[in-house]
Amino acid sequence: MKQYRNYIGGAWVESAKIFDDHNPVDGSLVARVHEADKEMVDAAIRAGHGAVSGAWGKTSVADRAALMYRIADEIDRRRNDFLEAEIADTGKPYSMASTIDIPRGAANFRVFADILKTASLDSFRMDLPGGAHAINYAVRKPLGVVGVISPWNLPLLLLTWKIAPAMACGNAVVAKPSEETPGTATLLAEVMHAVGVPPGVFNLVHGFGPGSAGEFITTNPDINAITFTGESRTGTAIMRAAAEGVKPISFELGGKNAAIIFADCDMEQMLDGMMRAIFLNSGQVCLCSERVYVERAIYDRFLTALVDRVKGLKFGWPNDAETSMGPLISAEHRDKVLSYYALAKEEGAQVLVGGGVPSFGDDRDNGFWVEPTVIVGLAQDARCIKEEIFGPICHVSPFDSEAEVVALANDTRYGLAATIWTTNVNRAHRVSQAMRVGLCWVNSWFLRDLRTPFGGAGLSGIGREGGMHSMNFYSELTNVCIRVDGEPQ
Ligand code: NAD
Repeated sequence: MKQYRNYIGGAWVESAKIFDDHNPVDGSLVARVHEADKEMVDAAIRAGHGAVSGAWGKTSVADRAALMYRIADEIDRRRNDFLEAEIADTGKPYSMASTIDIPRGAANFRVFADILKTASLDSFRMDLPGGAHAINYAVRKPLGVVGVISPWNLPLLLLTWKIAPAMACGNAVVAKPSEETPGTATLLAEVMHAVGVPPGVFNLVHGFGPGSAGEFITTNPDINAITFTGESRTGTAIMRAAAEGVKPISFELGGKNAAIIFADCDMEQMLDGMMRAIFLNSGQVCLCSERVYVERAIYDRFLTALVDRVKGLKFGWPNDAETSMGPLISAEHRDKVLSYYALAKEEGAQVLVGGGVPSFGDDRDNGFWVEPTVIVGLAQDARCIKEEIFGPICHVSPFDSEAEVVALANDTRYGLAATIWTTNVNRAHRVSQAMRVGLCWVNSWFLRDLRTPFGGAGLSGIGREGGMHSMNFYSELTNVCIRVDGEPQ
């Protein structure tokens, strides 16, 4: 049986405490994972400080960028190992892991290596009375040791999205992947080791949140910043822990995202896009649309076409080329999603398709599957309209005017993403700019240019990452102000 170990100060570290990593497709055992205790997490943070105050703190931009390219190349070289580990941990279709998860994992290192090489900083000249002036310029320095805590839905992609810019800025990291998906993070540690990342720069600790590695990171007084992706509720707990030492935090949290479909949209393009926006990764993407608002003129047509396409989704073995949908991540998450399927009915929803658990007649019946589901008929204040479900389900409702739908879409405490479908260019700009979200797509969804700001409003997060936004979060800027006399003294 595979063993996933911790990687601390450049060495593999075992633990007496082991937990199991399951394959959600059929519930089978993937690996045994060594849970880091408090001493191990503390040792990882110490190793990080050793690296930042040692040679790593003095590496040139060119050397750091070259190292990040080597990491990306090694991920590419071991692509099949990464694919196998990601698919075993998540059950997601090969078609998704091979086009999104693993290539983006490598791309994150290349993008931030390139940004690092061209990143500029502010410089201001300020004229003073009497002919003197002052020159201000900012200097970029690492924050120190950054705690990176990530979720299970896009394991390698979301972990590297934070590790890459943190390392680009010269920090050391202590990374904790989700307990559900320790596989690709462990391979990433192997990659770091193989390409010669200095000991202590990248540390990996496995474990859970409260009372485990997650909490040990966030409560350690010597951690210099915390970057977290996960549930909004967990964000609250981490914010409390970070408050103790006034630590910089970057939070990418949950969503309850709206899709707005106008009658003038390109119907085929929109349906293709909406199938992804609702069902990609079995609805387990923070950006997925769980609330779909459709202009009344095409409401019935949309529902018929959507239900028809949902019936064509093929859930199955990840490596089957036909498979378009996988299971949910765990038994616990499946039970949560099914509890919302039941709640929707109690709240008065009509189920147009799905609503149950598929039956396969083979080992997959031991996995964590639910049917893709479309519901209608809920009131705007129903819990299923207000709370993030994080499964393959959407609620569809009609609207009559632009003003009405803008108000409906913004009627949420979350504020992560929106997707708008229209061929009217004025409306596209007007409605997008009115969305209270961090990300708004028009005639597209989850189209990512990694240089752009990424994050959410309200319960969906704090701060923005991406491009220079990441560089600024992972850096401490020092402003140097120099007075220059106008005449020789
Ligand atoms: P989660 O909050 O349960 O766990 C995320 C990580 O936090 C895990 O590594 C977990 O072990 C750790 N953790 C849990 N409690 C902790 C604590 N008290 N202290 C420190 N660490 C703790 O989230 P999840 O179920 O893994 O992921 C799904 C959630 O993530 C959804 O809400 C989804 O919307 C959100 N998400 C957001 C984005 C984004 O970019 N905004 C991206 C992906 C997922």
